[in-house]
Amino acid sequence: MTIILDGKKSANSIIETLRKKTAPLKQKPGLAVILANDNPASRIYVKTKEKKAKEAGFNSFVYQFDNNTTNNQIIDLIDKLNKNPDIHGILVQLPLFSRLDEQKIIEAIDPKKDVDGFHPINVGKLHIGIEPHAVCCTPRGIIRLLKDYNITLEGKNAVVIGRSNIVGKPIAALLLKENATVCIAHSRTKNLQEITKKADILISATGIPLLIKEDFVKEGAIVVDVGIIKNEEGRIIGDVDFSEVSKKTSYITPVPGGVGPMTIAMLLDNTYELYKDSINEKL
Ligand code: NAP
Repeated sequence: MTIILDGKKSANSIIETLRKKTAPLKQKPGLAVILANDNPASRIYVKTKEKKAKEAGFNSFVYQFDNNTTNNQIIDLIDKLNKNPDIHGILVQLPLFSRLDEQKIIEAIDPKKDVDGFHPINVGKLHIGIEPHAVCCTPRGIIRLLKDYNITLEGKNAVVIGRSNIVGKPIAALLLKENATVCIAHSRTKNLQEITKKADILISATGIPLLIKEDFVKEGAIVVDVGIIKNEEGRIIGDVDFSEVSKKTSYITPVPGGVGPMTIAMLLDNTYELYKDSINEKL
């Protein structure tokens, strides 16, 4: 029988621990979120992040921009947030309005406040094996969830489907750090099924609904579904055909309730860690 990797439960416990840590603090960890996009899903994500930050006892600030905003207006705000001692984490909700320069805006964030771990300095540190100021939230959340279930990664064959900068590449780097043997597949990979069938751990991050069927997975594999897709009936589904695949797995994440809540929990955990670093720097 498969074990469900319950991201909601793990995330709630992380947030509760953070709430206990922040309760006695005079200065609370401060998270700033910049929203420059009118995508309804992004608005929901930002609202959820704000709600969970408050649950953890953090100060949370949301800055919204309309489609007439320039790169410089956002960069000016980031400059002010970089200098503001009450802000410890700055997050730019992606994607941005298409006229904006995503990379330039991310690079304006002080790497010490880059709570998403997207700044090239933090990305570079992750890939050369030096501790970054923060590690991207979704990949970090996946590793944390696997560890919460005492899953050993060392020596396992891990297959990651997807090579984006926010999920595929950083999760591959983290799996390598845990001494897994890692293979990254993507849309040009030939014979995907042959590769995925060799995986002890399969992490799918494509956004292609129900791409992963029962015959993509070996018996007893651990399957992590990162995909979040709204289907025609408005229901949230993932990359993995859960009802079929879960018959073969040893562990599997549900969608929703798997990786999604862990991403938010890691965002808050990263904010807390950056807050602690800023306090230690002053000592
Ligand atoms: P992305 O930037 O669009 O990347 C998708 C990746 O999947 C690409 O590398 C692409 O290959 C690959 N791919 C697409 N179709 C494929 C196929 N048929 N076979 C093999 N590989 C294929 O997406 P992303 O930002 O990484 O996000 C992926 C999914 O995760 C989305 O559903 C997103 O909503 C979700 N997500 C969830 C969370 C969470 O907290 N749960 C966080 C972030 C993202 P190429 O590089 O060759 O194009």
